[in-house]
Amino acid sequence: MNVTRIIQKKRDGETLAPGEISAVIEGYVSGAVPGYQVAALAMAIYFQGMDASETSALTRVLMESGECLDWTGVEGLRVDKHSTGGQGDKVSLVLAPLAACCGLRVPMVAGRGLGPTGGTIDKLESIPGFRTDLGAADIRRITDEVGCVISSQGDKFAPADGKLYALRDVTATVASVPLITASIMSKKLAEGLDALVLDIKWGSGAFMKDIESARSLGAAMASVGESMGVRTRNLVTDMNQPLGRAVGNANEVREALAALSGEGPADLMEVVYELGALMLTSAGQSEDKVAARATLEKELASGRPLEKFHEMVRAQGGDLSAELELAPASEVSAARAGYVSAIDGEALGYALIALGGGRRLIEDTVDPSVGLQMRVRLGDEVREGQPLLDLLSAGRGREEAMVLVEGAFEITETPASESPRLIVAGT
Ligand code: URA
Repeated sequence: MNVTRIIQKKRDGETLAPGEISAVIEGYVSGAVPGYQVAALAMAIYFQGMDASETSALTRVLMESGECLDWTGVEGLRVDKHSTGGQGDKVSLVLAPLAACCGLRVPMVAGRGLGPTGGTIDKLESIPGFRTDLGAADIRRITDEVGCVISSQGDKFAPADGKLYALRDVTATVASVPLITASIMSKKLAEGLDALVLDIKWGSGAFMKDIESARSLGAAMASVGESMGVRTRNLVTDMNQPLGRAVGNANEVREALAALSGEGPADLMEVVYELGALMLTSAGQSEDKVAARATLEKELASGRPLEKFHEMVRAQGGDLSAELELAPASEVSAARAGYVSAIDGEALGYALIALGGGRRLIEDTVDPSVGLQMRVRLGDEVREGQPLLDLLSAGRGREEAMVLVEGAFEITETPASESPRLIVAGT
């Protein structure tokens, strides 16, 4: 195999054969193909894109580099959801136990924070003792016994993606539709699902900055999922401001617990119910969206999903007997009166990282107690000096976070014509 020729083909806009794609990835994993050649190929893909067959081939080779779950002997339909990420997105913590209570099996492989976007695994690790490095046998057992489980990718699921992602992260090749598609779908398809629901975020806090790119990503991911026999649906949802009020790991678990107790903020619950309805209808568990939503609301009101969350936490070694601690809060106030017309979600994500609630380097440790608590929403009218949010800070990075947060709010004399819709579209 001549890797230089493969890079050249993609650079010049030609289509790669599945064998060429797998040869490069397998060679990269074994050490036979050096990182600089894979980085060059990733950059060529970034500029030239990949068609559906190339994207499926890349997804498959990434997926097959690790374990794939085998569900022989386990009853029930396996359905999962995945979000492309943002700030305050704690939907998985609410939806996994809720969907399990509605009769689905949810074997979720989730991620850590990536750049300014938070990660479900970091949130769950704020619970003392909670184990996220589960292998296939534990995922299978807990899914069977509890109905839902949330584990990390570790080095067991799609390890070639882990290696390729680290390379993309430092070669400015993350924001590519086929590369994101293959990366996410390789992990999700390794779960052995019957159906998958995707929450594609768009906006200031998301990887996709406009609705059109979010739709393209949703369509590419759905096409790969369907081509591999998994019913795949998606929603495009708003990430121009944090979802809910809480941002930061322990803070978000606390808000998820409130949501499971029936006290979730309206925007968070809307996304939970919309995605939950897609999960139930995709699995054929509910006839239509109206029936699915009624089932979800009734189930949440019963209190069983909260119990299910605790059951999952116990099964994964976690201890929620004490309330999760938060760092001391201080207010950040509006410098002028007016209307909140824009919020830079990415800046809020970087503020969280500055406080120690996310990573700059893979080896950084995360402080679960730090975060942000939003006090205003897009479109709100504010007085000069009115609190915009609370900074939950343990001291580290406070000044840097303060600058980022203050710069994140655009306050104008007149309101912006309209705030973005929460749920934009789905396919
Ligand atoms: N999440 C992933 O797992 N991979 C990407 O490429 C982007 C987001």
